[in-house]
Amino acid sequence: AFLTFEGIDGSGKSTQARLLAEALRQNGHDVLLTREPGGSPGAEEIRSLLLHGEPDRWSAETELLLFTAARRDHVERTIQPALDAGKIVICDRFVDSTRAYQGITRGDLRARVDTLHALMIGIEPDLTFLIDINPNIALARATKRVGAEARFESFGIELQATLRAGFLNLANRSRRFRVIAGNRPEAEVAEEVHHHATGFLGP
Ligand code: C5P
Repeated sequence: AFLTFEGIDGSGKSTQARLLAEALRQNGHDVLLTREPGGSPGAEEIRSLLLHGEPDRWSAETELLLFTAARRDHVERTIQPALDAGKIVICDRFVDSTRAYQGITRGDLRARVDTLHALMIGIEPDLTFLIDINPNIALARATKRVGAEARFESFGIELQATLRAGFLNLANRSRRFRVIAGNRPEAEVAEEVHHHATGFLGP
């Protein structure tokens, strides 16, 4: 099974992805935890091209191609082999992040995101957790974080609000989403996520 976590910066999705991986391992599942952009050696190299450097280093279209190239490598080298081996794959961000970030933040590239995905990637997650949170709360968390990536600085509150709406819009259009209220204690969010995951995976 292929499970993904999505949400704006500072939503807590990476923590929740890790907590779910730990809980499922304790239940005896074989779990691969991975992340985007990155998740394979080649895709991690592309990640550093994307995240380090001037925010406008790449045009919107080139940036979309780089994210797509990174995802292709990640799926080929990491995700698909793990799924073929029967593992549960948990990924911190996947194509829905591209639908939101590259799809709507630098002009409307949504149709191109979907075309490229269909052409070069193909797979969709089985279940997606959207950790939904008010951007003001998320920003306060994210700026406290040590080593927050430079790119975040260029993403103001308004853009985060646009992204939040974009994610909620995607969630409304697909049954694979579970929208989880993120502004709660970590353990409470984790419990709800685990409940949905075991409901989907079976005991
Ligand atoms: O999730 P993570 O914090 O690792 O993401 C790193 C940065 O990349 C974030 O600032 C996020 O806004 C950005 N990003 C993006 N487009 C994506 C995925 C992440 O701009 N598709």
